[in-house]
Amino acid sequence: MRSKLVIPLKLKLFLPVMIIVITVVVITTLWFVNRSIHSFNDRIISTLELEVQTLKQMFERERILKLEKVQTNLKVARIQFFSKPLVVTDRTMTVEVENQRSNMRHEAVLPVWKHGGKELFGSVEFVDFMEGIVGGSVTVFQRIDSGFVRVSTNIRKSDGQRAVATYIPNNSPVAETVLEGRSYFGRAVVVDKWYTTGYDPILIDNEVSGLLYVGDMEKDMSELKRILNNLTIGKSGYPFVFDKYGTLLIHPSREGEQWGDSLFLSNVLNTTDGTLTFLQDGHSKTAAYSYFEPFELYVAASVFNDIENRELVKNAVSGALMVAVIAIIFLLIFIYRFTTERLYNYLNALERSEAKLATTEEALQQSEKLAHMGQISAGIAHELNNPLGVITMYSGIILDELPADSPVRDDIRMIVEQADRCKNIVGGLLNFARKNKVNAREVDIVKFLSQTLSGVVIPENIRTAIHTDIKDTIVMLDIEQMTQVFTNLEKNAVEAMPEGGELNIQIIGTDREVEVIIADTGTGISEENMGKLFTPFFTTKKVGEGTGLGLPLVYGIVKMHKGRINVISNTDPSKGATGTRFCITLPRII
Ligand code: ADP
Ligand code: MG
Repeated sequence: MRSKLVIPLKLKLFLPVMIIVITVVVITTLWFVNRSIHSFNDRIISTLELEVQTLKQMFERERILKLEKVQTNLKVARIQFFSKPLVVTDRTMTVEVENQRSNMRHEAVLPVWKHGGKELFGSVEFVDFMEGIVGGSVTVFQRIDSGFVRVSTNIRKSDGQRAVATYIPNNSPVAETVLEGRSYFGRAVVVDKWYTTGYDPILIDNEVSGLLYVGDMEKDMSELKRILNNLTIGKSGYPFVFDKYGTLLIHPSREGEQWGDSLFLSNVLNTTDGTLTFLQDGHSKTAAYSYFEPFELYVAASVFNDIENRELVKNAVSGALMVAVIAIIFLLIFIYRFTTERLYNYLNALERSEAKLATTEEALQQSEKLAHMGQISAGIAHELNNPLGVITMYSGIILDELPADSPVRDDIRMIVEQADRCKNIVGGLLNFARKNKVNAREVDIVKFLSQTLSGVVIPENIRTAIHTDIKDTIVMLDIEQMTQVFTNLEKNAVEAMPEGGELNIQIIGTDREVEVIIADTGTGISEENMGKLFTPFFTTKKVGEGTGLGLPLVYGIVKMHKGRINVISNTDPSKGATGTRFCITLPRII
């Protein structure tokens, strides 16, 4: 029964725990992976935002560089311009001038200037020379009533003509600053292009009479394009630039096209900064963008999320899986060792104690049976004892008085013998009846046992010995009853060794108990008879030799003394020496 129970029970106990542990760990792992993917996406967004800020700084740097370049160029232009004499002649000229903002035209009178001995108005010598040295645009202005008019320039109007005779009106910031005698740097629309500009007053007799101007095209897109097109972000990302109409100005593959549809764009173009996630060719993409005001364009960067995350997710998942597997193994081992195993042992112990209970119940039934037996046999024995006494007495007398040659002598002897046998049986039954009370006294167990042994007839071919190293030899017991116990056991041992052998008595003691082992080297008791030993009238001996009342009596008396009997026997010579050991364990105090 036990071997059938082992595996299924352990498994039954362990399986639910296993399922719970695995479920919990798997859920935790999935949650962790999910969290990681989210944080990867957050990371992507912050990386893109950082990238966009870096690009903006690059643009800002470009702007500052342009400004510095213009400042330097203006100095060079100034030195170059004044290296030749500037003469204001007495002559004047009338020119039709054009307001560069309003495009209104009117006539203006201005003095004729000579520069390096040549008339400056409309000349190209100085400006083209300067363009050759520093690049960009260069202009010389002269003061008129309504502002400053270009008299020599390399800037061209949309029709290709040089923009001579266009003027900056007095109310422009440039004019206002320069009229105070200061230089002006900034950004300006010159004709129809954005320039980084520098204006320096030309003073004649301490009066602002004209201007020197240099400018550099503000957004050098080809330069920025070259830099940006070489930039990559992560594995799949790139920067791009679009203007306030959503036209892609710099993009690795879609330059000149619109970025997204109008709804998409209107969302972006209403804001100055932001991030968005959208689908492109079925893949999720994230972009960050920011408006760079000085250049009036949006700087942006985008990546494909799945491409960026793939490796990270793979690592996170494999890492989490490994942790999960290890956690599961450890948890299972732990739970198995500390819970399942214990529970299993507990159930096993329960099973064992149930079995023990069954044996105890059996024993109880046995002693009840014996008690019944005792009561019945006591009644019968009492009734039989007197008539039996009369039979033995008178048959004895008859036998004695019969002449030696009487033909009935053998018959009478038979009566005497059989009557004796009946007396034996009745005597045994009376013993049964008498054992109900224990009259315990202190006894030296070693001495007591040697006395019982000497009361048994031992044939010469049997050697006997008593072994003991017991210190405290005193035990409480009923001498009369215990004499019957040991005498019976010793007699049985002797009877089991018809061919001779050894009868060894061993006495062992603890604080509470004394154990007496009566061991013989006899025939042993077969497995099948083991269960019947204590049943009244069970005997394997010939009629007349055994009554089968010895061991039931022994059992009853030992139980009355609150002791235990244990029998070990071997009948099979192939398993070792044959023989039987009766162990009687008695408490020192009843
Ligand atoms: P009896 O001795 O009258 O047969 P018991 O109750 O004393 O009755 O013993 C019952 C039976 O138990 C015996 O007949 C015998 O078969 C067996 N038995 C008892 N003690 C031993 C022993 N030491 N060796 C072998 N058999 C034994
Ligand atoms: Mg006997």
